[in-house]
Parts: sequence; C-alpha cells; structure tokens
Amino acid sequence: MSYKHYYVGDSVLSTGDYEVHTGDCVELARVESKTYLGYYDNCQDAIRKASDIYPNVSGCKYCSPGCHRR
Ligand SMILES: [Zn+2]
Repeated sequence: MSYKHYYVGDSVLSTGDYEVHTGDCVELARVESKTYLGYYDNCQDAIRKASDIYPNVSGCKYCSPGCHRR
C-alpha cells in the first residue's frame, strides 16, 4: 500500500459518522470543510487519528473501503 494524505470531513453524515478520505478521492471534492489527518500508508492509522477529533469515524467506501463500517 502506498502513502497518501488523509482527511476527515467536518460534517457528520446521516449515518452519524464522520468520514475519512484520501487526498485524491473524488468524494473529498464534495466535502465543504475538512481537517488534515496526516500522511499514512493505511486507513486504520488515519481512522485512529480522526477518532481523536470525532467520536464516530468511518472510512469512505470509495477510497478507504477497508475502513468502511456500513
Ligand atoms: Zn473518499
């Protein structure tokens, strides 16, 4: 797996989750406000970092399917 920049969207989704994206995700372009998490080679580390900021975090099903919860 390659290193990517990860972000978490600052708006909660209808599922109650905050969503983590890679910097090159097309879905991230729709996110109005985002917080930079860091440069990781896996989504788990990005999720862990995002969990320090928001209570419920899930990976985007497009760019981070391995961390998508539902
Ligand atoms: Zn994404």
